[in-house]
Amino acid sequence: MAKQPMLKFVNVARDMPEKRPPNLRNQDFHEIYAEYASEKAAEQASRCSQCGVPYCQTHCPLHNNIPDWLRLTAEGRLKEAYEVSQATNTFPEVCGRICPQDRLCEGNCVIEQSGHGTVTIGSVEKYITDTAWDEGWVQAIKPARERAESVGIIGAGPGGLAAADVLRRAGVQVTVYDRYDRGGGLLTYGIPGFKLEKDVVMRRIDLLEKGGVEFVRNCNVGEDISFEDIRNTHSAVVIATGVYKSRDLGGPGSGAAGIVRAIDYLTASNRQSFGDAVPEIESGELNAKGKNVVVIGGGDTAMDCVRTAVRQGASGVKCLYRRDRENMPGSQREVTNAEEEGVVFQWLSAPKGFLGDPVTAVRVQKMRLGAPDATGRQSPEEIEGAEYDEPADLVIKALGFEPEDLPMLWDQPDLEVTRWGTIKAEYTTGQTALEGVFAVGDIVRGASLVVWAIRDGRDSAEAVLSHLNAQQVEAAE
Ligand SMILES: Cc1cc2nc3c(=O)[nH]c(=O)nc-3n(C[C@H](O)[C@H](O)[C@H](O)COP(=O)(O)OP(=O)(O)OC[C@H]3O[C@@H](n4cnc5c(N)ncnc54)[C@H](O)[C@@H]3O)c2cc1C
Ligand code: SF4
Repeated sequence: MAKQPMLKFVNVARDMPEKRPPNLRNQDFHEIYAEYASEKAAEQASRCSQCGVPYCQTHCPLHNNIPDWLRLTAEGRLKEAYEVSQATNTFPEVCGRICPQDRLCEGNCVIEQSGHGTVTIGSVEKYITDTAWDEGWVQAIKPARERAESVGIIGAGPGGLAAADVLRRAGVQVTVYDRYDRGGGLLTYGIPGFKLEKDVVMRRIDLLEKGGVEFVRNCNVGEDISFEDIRNTHSAVVIATGVYKSRDLGGPGSGAAGIVRAIDYLTASNRQSFGDAVPEIESGELNAKGKNVVVIGGGDTAMDCVRTAVRQGASGVKCLYRRDRENMPGSQREVTNAEEEGVVFQWLSAPKGFLGDPVTAVRVQKMRLGAPDATGRQSPEEIEGAEYDEPADLVIKALGFEPEDLPMLWDQPDLEVTRWGTIKAEYTTGQTALEGVFAVGDIVRGASLVVWAIRDGRDSAEAVLSHLNAQQVEAAE
């Protein structure tokens, strides 16, 4: 098989300042495009027809008041646009960057549906909030009054942080526990920096800390502190631990060196972008440079892996998915981006085994789509005898995530879970089977989206406040 050309992704304006025109060499990407961005944002915002049937708003999980902030942006009233936008979204600059808008707000824009191309709602939301940061309109929380009660939040991802923000604004004492050394959850160590810059996440965490939220980092609940201790320390607890157990692959040779988990690969790359020493990158174990990379999976995590591998300088990147393009779970936008960067997708292809140790190839079984299953989705079936070997020196398994067994790990048999292992929680409040314990985000929904974790965190924080108020009334009686 002919060797693929070395893939290279370079954005001259951003990555190669020496190649920019001399007058722009000392400026960063944002500065170069700032003027363009403001024109573009106003132009896009003015395309909103104020249709009066804001499907965009209904299909945004936060029900953001999109028509209003688009109108204010079109009129150049950016500060007011920011006020409206942040009233319903704790991290608008994050959602503006990484929401799958084609499935949410933009996919339901009336202009898009009439065939004229959506208003780029996410980009405008990002622009408004980035401007708000630049102009100093985003301020640390200053509660009108302090409350005596404290709430412990386990997990510093978007769900936990959104809950922390609402509770702290109400004057509650908030402590966030996280097993990582940095907050942000998958915003920090999952989603790559080319989709979501790390300083955008870190400045939010800094601001929460300035506003009085306490962070206890490097604290693995269940190991460094017991769940019971946290429950006894605080008036209420919010569990926002996400889902981290990677689905695995079997088959001959699946234990060979060079076959790695997507979360380890992406975490290592994200750590490197913080400037951390990452031995697994230096040793090559989690580094795609110069390698033939095969990523297995068809979701957004797989897309992040293939695009990270391109940026690390892989000599070839292929993605194997057992269904076809139309039936893949990941965003079509992401696939198009990956294809533009040179990634080759092999649809209807499943791994059957692995050759070599360290791995040298993936044995691929060709598939076809058969009869629909109970959910109406066509099931992939093997095509007998249709196999081939795909050369690979790094195989990344991106098959999705499942919850860890929290009742067992935390010795909490009464913490009820579903048959998928996610925590059973009341839909709008996040109330679990344990009194005063709430749960939000992926640990309730299964692997989902940032915007849903934010929605859960905000809703659940309101329920926690009602719980604290009820406790106060009870104590006074
Ligand atoms: C690679 C990847 C790319 C993604 N890309 C997108 C995207 O582009 N757009 C999008 O909307 N969504 C995306 N998602 C999904 C999104 O990141 C998640 O839905 C979201 O982060 C869930 O938020 P959360 O707060 O529930 O959990 P997480 O973000 O997972 O945060 C959970 C936190 O809990 C901590 N924790 C876990 N267990 C413990 C414990 N025992 N003790 C202490 N701390 C603990 C973890 O360290 C972590 O910091 C992506 C996911 C992945 C994996
Ligand atoms: S939060 Fe997400 S879905 Fe809602 S308006 Fe912003 S980008 Fe669209």
